[in-house]
Amino acid sequence: MNILRDFPMKNVTSLGVGGPADYFVKVKSKEDIQEALQYAEQNNLPVTTIGYGSNLLVTDKGIRGLVIQIADSFASANINGSKLTATSGCLLSCISKFAACHALSGLEFAVGIPGSLGGAIYMNAGAYGGEIGPLVENVVWITSDKIGEWNRNEFYYSYRSSRAQQEKVIIAEATLSLTPGDRESIFAKMKELQAQRIAKQPLELPSAGSTFKRPPNAYVGPLIEKANLKGYQIGGAQVSTKHAGFIVNTGDATAQDVLDLIQLIQKTIKKDFGIELEPEIRIIGEL
Ligand SMILES: Cc1cc2nc3c(=O)[nH]c(=O)nc-3n(C[C@H](O)[C@H](O)[C@H](O)COP(=O)(O)OP(=O)(O)OC[C@H]3O[C@@H](n4cnc5c(N)ncnc54)[C@H](O)[C@@H]3O)c2cc1C
Repeated sequence: MNILRDFPMKNVTSLGVGGPADYFVKVKSKEDIQEALQYAEQNNLPVTTIGYGSNLLVTDKGIRGLVIQIADSFASANINGSKLTATSGCLLSCISKFAACHALSGLEFAVGIPGSLGGAIYMNAGAYGGEIGPLVENVVWITSDKIGEWNRNEFYYSYRSSRAQQEKVIIAEATLSLTPGDRESIFAKMKELQAQRIAKQPLELPSAGSTFKRPPNAYVGPLIEKANLKGYQIGGAQVSTKHAGFIVNTGDATAQDVLDLIQLIQKTIKKDFGIELEPEIRIIGEL
């Protein structure tokens, strides 16, 4: 295990902002995860787990303690009948296409979500009417001294929330239950959803996806547009001119720029429409 010091978090987050992690390790196996957790325990370091950093805003002061990254070096998947089992570092886009190649339907919605299986389970990621939670058959989790499992009935989830957010565990592996389908139609659906994403989302600029969770009976993008904040900029952070539900980094944004913009949007939407917007992106690190 190669533990790095003062690692720049902006290098491993899609938004491209954030200060250093005191300690950083990229793991390759379940044993590595446990070893990293034991190292943190022995050295009294708080632990932060990340995947591909596509839903994160890391503060400018960075993260105290140990960051464990579970990404491409811990990525393998297999299929047994209609069940797909994968380690948590697998990219969602890869396992979606893997399922499609085996004529298994259910993961079409996930093909354009740029995160890991572990991050998706933690966040109960979803899009276009689908979400990962209902597909989960089994989750393998790890702590410093235990490896355990949640079956379908023990893994609870709701909109952008899951049991993993309530418990201090690292997700190591999951089995998803898919449905046999027609290979061509599955790929056609993925192509259609990907085209919608490219047309509507600011994929050409760094972001962390939708900034806020969808409030009841309203859509965030149109609310922000109505409040005349589309294109509004603080430092290098901008409300996307393509989709107001995204904040993009125009090049030299700091985490503080993004935080200030989030707060300004929240205040304005509360004042104009009486609606409280809750961030969907996870804000982590020292404030
Ligand atoms: C352009 C763009 C489009 C997006 N579109 C969507 C969308 O359509 N739908 C959607 O839901 N999201 C979307 N996202 C957000 C993001 O891709 C998802 O939330 C994704 O599931 C996060 O995965 P990640 O590996 O990047 O996790 P990270 O961003 O690295 O982490 C997210 C959270 O998960 C936790 N976590 C990560 N891995 C593990 C693990 N193995 N064990 C325990 N906890 C873990 C982290 O601690 C953190 O709290 C988008 C993001 C971008 C940049």
